[in-house]
Amino acid sequence: MEKCKICGTEHEFKCVLVKAVEFYPDGVLKRVEYLTPADMPQQPQHPIFPAHETRQ
Ligand SMILES: [Zn+2]
Repeated sequence: MEKCKICGTEHEFKCVLVKAVEFYPDGVLKRVEYLTPADMPQQPQHPIFPAHETRQ
């Protein structure tokens, strides 16, 4: 596995740091759009499980 040209680590498939990447037909890197904090998974506004059950 070759080192990623973008982040410098070895990984498969799409670079985790990159949101979008374009290559020229000859394989030269054309454009890289990196992930920003805004693109990271957001904390859910509401917890999946309620912190406490409301029983009546
Ligand atoms: Zn990478």
